[in-house]
Amino acid sequence: MAVKEDRLKNLLKVKDAALSCVHCGQCRVANWPEKNFYYVCPVYKTNLTPNFEPFFARGKNIILKGLIWGDLELSQELSEIFFQCSVCGACDDFCHNSHNKYIDFANAKWMAQVEVFEALRADLVEAGYALEPHEAMNKALVELLNPYERNNKDKNDWIKKLDFKIKDLDKEKADILYYVGCTTALTPKIQRIAIATAKIFNILDVDFGILGENEICCGSVALRTGDKKAFEKVANLNAKLFKDKGIKKIVTSCAGCYRTLKKDYGNLLEGIQVQHTVEFLEELLANNDIKLEKLEKTTTYHDPCHLGRHMGIYDIPRKILRKISVFSEMKTNREAAMCCGAGGGLRKGFPELSLEMAKNRVKEAEDLNVQFLVSTCPFCFRNLSDAIDELGSDMVMIDLIELFLNALKK
Ligand code: SF4
Ligand code: SF4
Repeated sequence: MAVKEDRLKNLLKVKDAALSCVHCGQCRVANWPEKNFYYVCPVYKTNLTPNFEPFFARGKNIILKGLIWGDLELSQELSEIFFQCSVCGACDDFCHNSHNKYIDFANAKWMAQVEVFEALRADLVEAGYALEPHEAMNKALVELLNPYERNNKDKNDWIKKLDFKIKDLDKEKADILYYVGCTTALTPKIQRIAIATAKIFNILDVDFGILGENEICCGSVALRTGDKKAFEKVANLNAKLFKDKGIKKIVTSCAGCYRTLKKDYGNLLEGIQVQHTVEFLEELLANNDIKLEKLEKTTTYHDPCHLGRHMGIYDIPRKILRKISVFSEMKTNREAAMCCGAGGGLRKGFPELSLEMAKNRVKEAEDLNVQFLVSTCPFCFRNLSDAIDELGSDMVMIDLIELFLNALKK
């Protein structure tokens, strides 16, 4: 017993939720148009996995029971299965949405797939069954303070493309820390998100600054891929840095950083307000006389899992998009939105599967014949724009912040 408790110490903390599944199987492909669910698991939809039980939530939940009851052991094979999932939470949302009136869950506790799958990933990694690409990524995270195996000084690169100065919060004070995030700062084709954000803040006279080369990764990738030690290392460094610099408010344009700083850091950031850029912009619009032009551009919106299902932000981006463009919804949206396949370490661990998921999402957007596929996360941006290129689509990937800047300028 002691051995099992030691090896499953993370999973056993969420044991009641892990044991709650009644194995109805609906979280695989259920069709529920009233709630915009036309299937559920985006991994299952790709047909790139063997597509038997362990490759969607019901099978994973049966494995969890086998582990907890002592019939199964942790293994590399289990890692291969549990990491072929973007931890998007669609199964979690569907389960809660569909069964609340009908099923008396065994433990009177809802299934919580995101929490439970991440707990098992942590146990798998602690038992030595991490995937190799994730190990390399998390090693870089701890040693270089970014997961891209880059010199952190490169985080200053995008600033050189601006024609105004930004405060360096390592040396100066400002009301707001714009937390850029590693993906935006270090990926040339995504740096435009940071550039547009900085331009908007500059135009609107927001007193903000950045940490540049001193910005430390939030640790989201480590947490999603089960490396709690790497996560705790950077989380503690960040908490100390923010405290030392007297930061009181953080705004980020990355959905992954947002969820991690706001939810996963827990009490570590007590006294510091964390907002996604869309929340901050909504606040600015409500309290200031900001004129936005309605652009003659057709758009649709991809909900990043970390902003939508994980944090409940669905309305704000849609409200802004309706104001500045001709907006229409994809078939799956909000709680039921199809994941782009980038998150949960999937792109790093299983790039082919991850890209196939992004292609499915792009095809869904193409059905609307819109000019722009809009999102609010650099991870989604990168995967969806790769899928657009791969498919030879005419649609243009854009971040909401870039459209906002266009609407503000004119
Ligand atoms: S997680 Fe929920 S929807 Fe999926 S099989 Fe279990 S009870 Fe059914
Ligand atoms: S979290 Fe998403 S990808 Fe993973 S099993 Fe559930 S629906 Fe499928």
